[in-house]
Amino acid sequence: MLTHTLSEQTSHYLHLEEQYGAHNYHPLPVVLEKGEGVFLYDVDGNRYFDFLSGYSAVNQGHCHPRIVDALVKQAQKLTLTSRAFHSNLLGEYAQYITGYFGYDKVLPMNTGVEAVETAIKLARRWGYAVKGIPDKQARIVVCEGNFHGRTSTVISFSTDPSAYGSFGPYMPGFEVVAYNSATAIEQAFQDKNVAAILVEPIQGEAGVLVPDDGYLAAIRNLCTEYNVLFIADEIQTGLARTGKMLACDHENVRPDILILGKALSGGTLPVSAVLADDDIMLNIKPGEHGSTYGGNPLACAVAIASLQVLKDENMMANAELMGQLLRQELAKLQSPFIKQIRGKGLLNAIIIEHANSDAAWQLCLAMKENGLLAKPTHGDKIRLAPPLLITEEEVKESVAIIETSLKTL
Ligand code: PLP
Repeated sequence: MLTHTLSEQTSHYLHLEEQYGAHNYHPLPVVLEKGEGVFLYDVDGNRYFDFLSGYSAVNQGHCHPRIVDALVKQAQKLTLTSRAFHSNLLGEYAQYITGYFGYDKVLPMNTGVEAVETAIKLARRWGYAVKGIPDKQARIVVCEGNFHGRTSTVISFSTDPSAYGSFGPYMPGFEVVAYNSATAIEQAFQDKNVAAILVEPIQGEAGVLVPDDGYLAAIRNLCTEYNVLFIADEIQTGLARTGKMLACDHENVRPDILILGKALSGGTLPVSAVLADDDIMLNIKPGEHGSTYGGNPLACAVAIASLQVLKDENMMANAELMGQLLRQELAKLQSPFIKQIRGKGLLNAIIIEHANSDAAWQLCLAMKENGLLAKPTHGDKIRLAPPLLITEEEVKESVAIIETSLKTL
């Protein structure tokens, strides 16, 4: 067991959070004050490889100069108009992002879960207005082990008791099916009142569960056959993280509703978006949905820069190559404590097997001491998802840190 002493400064900040902040997270005992590219720095000046990337919000690397430049320039000019008025950036951004992903329209929101809520509302509305589902009967199919955020509607269809327990009553209208099973989806689609299926192309929070090849294509086909909308939550998997712009691109599949968030702002502020074609999007009329900050000029400027950087710096290709290298190098360790290495591009996880059920947490503490930050999810899984500009040398250095840290178990 590692018993590291914390600096006085670190203890001070930990105490403040503990004393005055709600206890809804259990962070590693590290206090960060600076980020640059793949690195984070703590208040004592220690440098760490960031292997969480703000849960994949920092795909472009910390404080990317072009994104920060767009942020600062726009912040000095105009940050918020509300949607009561037009801004000179919303239309430009809407044109840019719809062209980028190939959809008719975008509906801008802020956090990821708000975009998920928006997609649910859009799907239900489409169900009534277009598909002809009787009022209040629309159902949405979701998958076991899903994570789509924390609002009371979204936790209503979570299968993780720590997410939904004692937060009821729950929102009805969701049908949970097994993940990675097209058969289960087809069975659920027998219900004529199904408006949509909401799915993560890879389940991130669940511990980077990669479905079988062909799963997304099967969903696409079933959705077309049964007149059901395919909603892809690419909040974590999208924006070059898995080695393609979207995880759905691995199977050349186009969802009817695409949800983006996180890296849409390169980790600078909450920016999310829902993309769909007119037959879906135009069923929501003025006054029926919105958000004070959604589509604000600052977010628009930052999102354009964040998307442009992904392409200009070829981050998809790097994520693909460095992801392969990372998994290869981890496999070479042949550690008895690594039960499985899985992932796509730079969205990866190792599954820890150890007599001590706390081993993944202990390993993360040891990695922190050795200069790499990662965090377990669901006990034994550790996500390894660095910013997408990581180099070959840095991947190797990171794996060496993991190797050294494994020896402390
Ligand atoms: N959907 C997915 C797939 C996510 O991974 C997350 C966050 O981790 C969300 C939705 C929620 O995003 P936010 O925390 O920005 O609300």
